Amino acid sequence: MIAGVYILIGIAAAVANVDLPFAMQSTMVIVAIVLSAIILASQDKSNAKEVYFCVAIWSPIVAVLIGFAASQSINSTTEHVSIVNDSLIALHLILLLLFVIWHDAEKRRIYIHYAQFDKETALPNKFALFGALAKLEEQNKPHTLLLFKPLILPSIRLNFGLTFANQHISKLFKEVHEQINTYGSAAVANKGDTHIYRLEDQVFAIVLDGKIEVSQVEQYVCILSSVFEEGVWYKDTKIVDSLDVGVANYPMHAKTTEKLVQRALQALNTKTHNGQRWHLFDVESSMSSERQLKLTSFLKSAIEQEQFSLFFQPQVDLKTGRVFGSEVLIRWLQPDLGYIPPDEFIPIAESSGQIYEITEWVVEQALKYQAQITKQIPEHVISINVSGRDLSRRELSVQLITLINELSLAPSQIMIEITESVTIGNETELKGMLDDYRSIGVKVAIDDFGTGYSSLAYLSKLGFDELKIDKSFVMDIETSKSNQTICKATCDMAHSLGSKVVAEGVEDINSYIRLQAYGCDYAQGYFISRPLPFNEFLSWLEKVNSASDIKSFLIR
Ligand code: C2E
Ligand code: CA
Ligand code: CA
Repeated sequence: MIAGVYILIGIAAAVANVDLPFAMQSTMVIVAIVLSAIILASQDKSNAKEVYFCVAIWSPIVAVLIGFAASQSINSTTEHVSIVNDSLIALHLILLLLFVIWHDAEKRRIYIHYAQFDKETALPNKFALFGALAKLEEQNKPHTLLLFKPLILPSIRLNFGLTFANQHISKLFKEVHEQINTYGSAAVANKGDTHIYRLEDQVFAIVLDGKIEVSQVEQYVCILSSVFEEGVWYKDTKIVDSLDVGVANYPMHAKTTEKLVQRALQALNTKTHNGQRWHLFDVESSMSSERQLKLTSFLKSAIEQEQFSLFFQPQVDLKTGRVFGSEVLIRWLQPDLGYIPPDEFIPIAESSGQIYEITEWVVEQALKYQAQITKQIPEHVISINVSGRDLSRRELSVQLITLINELSLAPSQIMIEITESVTIGNETELKGMLDDYRSIGVKVAIDDFGTGYSSLAYLSKLGFDELKIDKSFVMDIETSKSNQTICKATCDMAHSLGSKVVAEGVEDINSYIRLQAYGCDYAQGYFISRPLPFNEFLSWLEKVNSASDIKSFLIR
C-alpha cells in the first residue's frame, strides 16, 4: 500500500515536473497537518491554545517546503538554503517538545482541578472542604460549618432534567455567593471570600471563619433561605425551594474536622419542629439518635430472647360499676438498658419495619391470655394496640381469624385500638381496611381522640365502635373547664353516632364521678389500677369481683 502511494506520488511529481523528494516531503507534511486538524476537531471542546500550538508547530515545516519550492525556481546556493532549513526543522522539534510538556502540565492541572471541584456545579467539592477545614483545625482557628440541603432539588431533577437542575443550582449559588460575601464583609470580622462547597449530592457547605455569634449564623441562614425561597423560573413555572440547615462549631461541638462534619450532618438531619428551619448541633439529640440506633439493633433479638411482656390495665363500666375489659400494654426490659417505655421503642419499631413481628407477638399472647381471663370473667373485652402500619397487612386479619378459631374466642370481645393520627389519610382505603376487621367480628376503637385534627363526622364515616378520649383531656378534668366541656361534648356526640366512649387517664374519684355524670361508658386510669403483669391482674380481678361496685372497692 505504502509502495502504491510512493508510485502515485512519483507519477504526480513527473507529470507536474516537480522534484520527487520535494513531492514526498510536501505530501507527508500535508498528511500530518490534516491528521492534526482531524484530531483537534474530534475533541469535545475545541481548545484554542491547542489550535495555536498546532499552527505554530507546523509553520516552520511549511516554511521549509515553501523555501524548497522557491529554491528550485530561484537560483540560490544550496548551502544557504540548507542552513535555513535545518534551523526551521530544529524550531519545529523544539515547538513539538514544548507542546508535549505543555499538554502534560495541562492534563495534570485538569486532573487536580477535578479532584477538588465538582464537575456539575463547578463548586469546590468534599475534598476541598475537608482540606479547608483541616487547615483551620491545624491553625487552631475557631470556625463554623453550615450545611444546607435544598429540599426541592430531587424533584427538579425528576421533572426538568439534570442539565436544568445543574443550571438552576449554579444560578442560585452565584446569587448566594454574592449575598453571603456582602453580608460577611459588612457584619462579620471575616473579610475573606466565603466559598460554597458541595459535600454530597444534595448537601452543600459554607465555612464561616472566626468566632461567630448565633445571631450571625441565623442571619446567614436567613440570607440562604431567602435566595432559595425567591426561586427561579423554568418556562412558565416558578420553582421555589426551601432549605434544611445544620450547623456545628469548632471547637465547641467537635475537636476534629471529621467530627465537625459528622456533627453538622447530625444537626442537618434533626427533625424539624415548629417550622424551625435550622438546627445547631445538640448533644442531647445526638445521644438520642445514638440510643435510637442501639434500640433498633437490640429490638431484633428482643422477641427471641423473651424480653417483652404484656401488662393489663383494667377498664370499668361506669354504669354497672363492674370490670368491662382491659387494655394490653407491652413492656420491654432490655438487659443492658433496663426498662424501655413503649412510647420510645414503638415509633422506632415502626420506622425500622420491626413492628409487624412485635404486633404479631402481642396479638398471639394477648388472645391466649384472653382465653384464660374469660374463664374468670366471660364477658371480658380485650383491647389491643395496633400500629397504623399493621392495618394494611392481610396477615394480621388472617392471624386474628386463626387464633379466634383455635382458642374459641368471641370476636366481639376483641377490640383493636388505632390512634386518631392513623385515621388522617385516604378515607376509602382506610374504611376498606377497617371493614375487613369488622367483617371478622372484631371491634375498632379510635385511640387518643382529641390529639389529631379529625372530626367525629369524618371518623363516623370510617366506622368505629369505641372512642377513647385522650388522657390529656381527662387527667386534669377537675381543674380545667375547657376539658370538662370537651369530654362532655365528646360523650354526647359519640353516643349520637352510636359509639361507646372510654375515658383514659382517670386518676381520682372526682374525675370518675364527673365522667359518670357525663354519661361516659367506660373508665381506665391509675385511679382504677395501673397496668399490671398478668398474674397480678388476675388477682386484682378476683378481689374486685367480690365487691358489688368497684367504686366502693377502690376508695376503701
Ligand atoms: P396508649 O394506647 O394511649 O396507652 C395508654 C397509656 O397511658 C399507657 O402508657 C398507660 O400506662 C398510660 N396510662 C393509663 N392510665 C393512666 C393514668 O391514669 N395517668 C397517666 N398519666 N397515664 C396513664 P404506656 O403503657 O406507657 O403506653 C404508651 C403507649 O405505647 C400507648 O399509649 C400505646 O400507644 C403504645 N403501646 C403500648 N403497648 C403497645 C402495643 O402492644 N402495640 C403498639 N402498637 N403500641 C403500644
Ligand atoms: Ca391504646
Ligand atoms: Ca390512648
